[in-house]
Amino acid sequence: MPDPVLATLGVGANLGDPRAAVLKAIEDLAQLPGTVTVAVSSLYGSAPLDADGPDYVNAVLQVRTALSPDALLAALQAIEQQAGRERPYRNAPRTLDLDILLYGEHRVDRDDLQIPHPRMWQRAFVVLPLAEIAPDLVSPAHVQAVAGQGLHRLDG
Ligand code: ADP
Ligand code: MG
Repeated sequence: MPDPVLATLGVGANLGDPRAAVLKAIEDLAQLPGTVTVAVSSLYGSAPLDADGPDYVNAVLQVRTALSPDALLAALQAIEQQAGRERPYRNAPRTLDLDILLYGEHRVDRDDLQIPHPRMWQRAFVVLPLAEIAPDLVSPAHVQAVAGQGLHRLDG
């Protein structure tokens, strides 16, 4: 087993009961082999960005994992499938979206996997939850870059 790496994951949903889907995904992620949850943000609500459908519920978490980036991606996609994810078209509404945002300092640049996630710093629903759990990773410029995108912290 390789040494565990601190990975940052994004969770989003906007169909069915999105809050329940996000909470279930956070539980499922904690069950992955060789993986321990380190921090979980609050849940946030936002209107879809460049997309249709109901509002999103989003959260960001950090896990310490012995899974490789590819094994982690496969595990996230399996959890998405279990949640009934379909991909009719790009940016379609989804029951569950799980993204690898960061994997330690590691970089991957392939068609099927890009780490750091190429759009993470453009998205308030990533930047603000990340600032909550890992403020050392987020600069004032990062926060400034997403100011103006509607995002609200959900209760409880
Ligand atoms: P998005 O998350 O951008 O809305 P999808 O969830 O439909 O889009 O993902 C499409 C593809 O993105 C997946 O099949 C996966 O191979 C690829 N992908 C590339 N980089 C990543 C990453 N860092 N995390 C998750 N998926 C990724
Ligand atoms: Mg995705």
